[in-house]
Amino acid sequence: MNILNYINGQLIAPVSGQYLDNINPAEGKVYGNIPDSDSADVTKAVESAAAAFPIWSAMPLTKRANILLKIAELIDRDLDKLALAESADQGKPLKLAKSVDIPRASANLRFYATASMHVSTESHLMEGEAINYTTQTPIGVAGCISPWNLPLYLFTWKIAPALAAGCTVVAKPSELTPMTAFLFSKLCIEAGLPAGVLNIVHGLGNKVGQAIVEHPEVSVISFTGGTVTGKRIAATAAPMFKKLSLELGGKNPNLIFADCDFDQAVSTSIQSSFSNQGEICLCGSRILVERSLYNKFIAEFVKRTKELIVGDPLEENTRVGALVSEAHMNKVLSYIELAKSEGGEIICGGKQVSLSGRCENGYFVEPTVIAGLDQTCRTNQEEIFGPVVTIMPFDTEEEAINYANSNAYGLSATIWTENLKRAHRVSHQIKSGIIWVNCWLLRDLRTPFGGMKQSGVGREGGWEALQFFTETKNVCIKL
Ligand code: NDP
Repeated sequence: MNILNYINGQLIAPVSGQYLDNINPAEGKVYGNIPDSDSADVTKAVESAAAAFPIWSAMPLTKRANILLKIAELIDRDLDKLALAESADQGKPLKLAKSVDIPRASANLRFYATASMHVSTESHLMEGEAINYTTQTPIGVAGCISPWNLPLYLFTWKIAPALAAGCTVVAKPSELTPMTAFLFSKLCIEAGLPAGVLNIVHGLGNKVGQAIVEHPEVSVISFTGGTVTGKRIAATAAPMFKKLSLELGGKNPNLIFADCDFDQAVSTSIQSSFSNQGEICLCGSRILVERSLYNKFIAEFVKRTKELIVGDPLEENTRVGALVSEAHMNKVLSYIELAKSEGGEIICGGKQVSLSGRCENGYFVEPTVIAGLDQTCRTNQEEIFGPVVTIMPFDTEEEAINYANSNAYGLSATIWTENLKRAHRVSHQIKSGIIWVNCWLLRDLRTPFGGMKQSGVGREGGWEALQFFTETKNVCIKL
């Protein structure tokens, strides 16, 4: 299928007339094309977003919210179609797209549509002298740039609060996974979203993404992606004083204490290691196990890892699908080689998987477990973003915390213990934006979300995301 940009309410071809291949990674085959847009398309998109801003920002809240709720309803109606598109673009098991990605996309819209109707601001009385009241108004045109790993889920995670807050948006999905955003643009038209309120420009990051970040009329940028790209965006946006939220990479520790609920710890660690082929920024890629439990944990964890079916994403039993691209697969395989050269022992997996039939040219890698590395080596410092975890023992709580924090990233951490005091104590000492105790990936949309250290700045989720797309003003009236 040929994908088009969504600009000023219309589905249109890129100004240059140039297209890129859209590849299905499970088949290793081109299955459509996507606009290779550039700054000319971004300029048109920003102009249309700027023209729509006075209309959208002045629209009564309930009317605005009802349009977003209608889009959520249409996502639910088209669940199967969207899940198929997400799986074809990204390689993830269809089952996962149906049960997680697409339902979460409509949940994002519902959450922010309804939350926007409950925002209140404060007033402060200076006795006998003055009254202050604070207003929060939408900033203007927002730039939303999202990655390929959870395509529609993260795309809506950005645009939903921006639109609900009253901003108009120019968005760029990853060029590796454009299809669900394209189908989404059709749903926006069907739901009656006014022209120009949301504009979706497809294409490459260094052309389209960069042009969005550089455009002087885009005053707020919400970006999710890699840390290197995040640094570049920050360097461009800072001198222009743009408001910036950066959700970046992670190298998340998964701490298993000997007093944990063993079965729960193993089964959830399998998920937190290999869900979505390990291509979730929140995956626990460094497993740290208390020494007295280490051998038992490894034996069970490796046994369960070997049972995971790597296969055609469309098959019901598949647990690990294709990696998103050939280049990414090669990157993941090169990290496995690096681990070996750093002295790591591959105790499970480690190789590319060749399937037969439809997926014979797909980009599949075995779930891989590596032992014998210390925390300072590159394998344990850099984000691999694939079905690869390292595992190592620790002797004391202090050592576990040191290992967990011995990394430039600080996105999430998981702690397994039945000791309540320890759970609190360790949670407070780990420098990560989100800590899960005896669970993983449980998300309450009301809570702030984001990383510490090189995992990003700014918080998304909850009220923070709505506030992010607004500017605050205080009015002080003399009594
Ligand atoms: P990238 O940083 O490569 O890309 C993210 C998005 O930015 C893409 O749409 C990309 O376009 C675009 N982009 C690239 N260069 C520029 C630029 N110069 N200016 C503006 N936009 C640009 O990340 P990936 O797509 O590879 O996503 C994986 C990364 O995302 C991982 O590091 C992962 O940890 C992180 N991530 C973080 C999350 C979080 O919440 N903290 C959640 C999910 C993922 P293009 O695709 O064309 O290059």
